[in-house]
Amino acid sequence: MYLSVTGLAKQFGDLQVLKDINFSIEKGQVISIIGPSGSGKTTLLRCLNALEIPDNGIFQFEDGFTLDFTKKQKKQDLLRLRRKSGMVFQSYNLFPHKTAIENVMEGPLIVQKRDRKEVLNLAKSLLKKVGLEDKINLYPYQLSGGQQQRVGIARALAMEPELMLFDEPTSALDPELVGEVLKVIKDLAKDNWTMVIVTHEIQFAYQVSDKVVFMDGGYIVEQGTPDEVIKNPQVDRTKQFLHRIL
Ligand code: ADP
Repeated sequence: MYLSVTGLAKQFGDLQVLKDINFSIEKGQVISIIGPSGSGKTTLLRCLNALEIPDNGIFQFEDGFTLDFTKKQKKQDLLRLRRKSGMVFQSYNLFPHKTAIENVMEGPLIVQKRDRKEVLNLAKSLLKKVGLEDKINLYPYQLSGGQQQRVGIARALAMEPELMLFDEPTSALDPELVGEVLKVIKDLAKDNWTMVIVTHEIQFAYQVSDKVVFMDGGYIVEQGTPDEVIKNPQVDRTKQFLHRIL
């Protein structure tokens, strides 16, 4: 077990966005989170990276690191949580005044203070991995949305996180650019990266995931293998959602 999440809850003002969320991730597993808009998927993902601080819940990592959100968090524990994962955002969030390779090098150089030559080689190999070896010196505005998102993935990988988090990584893309980004994520799954992916791409979730989590109204309604949740959902709300979307 890489991570176990118990009793996770999060409220924004009067709105209870996450209610008693329980799930676990094995090392090397791919988990997709699906569900209607507003069901709490992004908030759940952001809690895993301390971009949102849960009101309640316990995170237990296999290395013994435990965060209990019923108590006040120490800053260093939140930093430790944040460093475990790399986040890929819907809107890429690249530095516009930096080239592709500078974007990938920024974190390891500035945050991790690693050796420049080593980081340069790492960045080159990651940009090659996402199919952009001939674009390393281009600026974001010179790249398509799909290429920018692939730089975003390389940038998250460059921090060598234990866990990769994807927040609707293809939803800002033109339809013809979705496939190239999904292919990169599939390649990462083959390399045994541990990943949690919020996605509207149900076919992709079916193909790539070890586990699918269906959320609605701040709850996990159903979770299981892709065959269990997508092909043979047991709960009416899951059936209705999939019926609408497929
Ligand atoms: P999903 O990813 O499933 O579309 P979200 O996690 O983005 O759902 O949002 C769940 C609910 O929480 C929505 O009603 C949204 O408006 C609300 N919400 C999300 N972030 C905030 C925030 N920072 N402040 C207030 N409400 C928020």
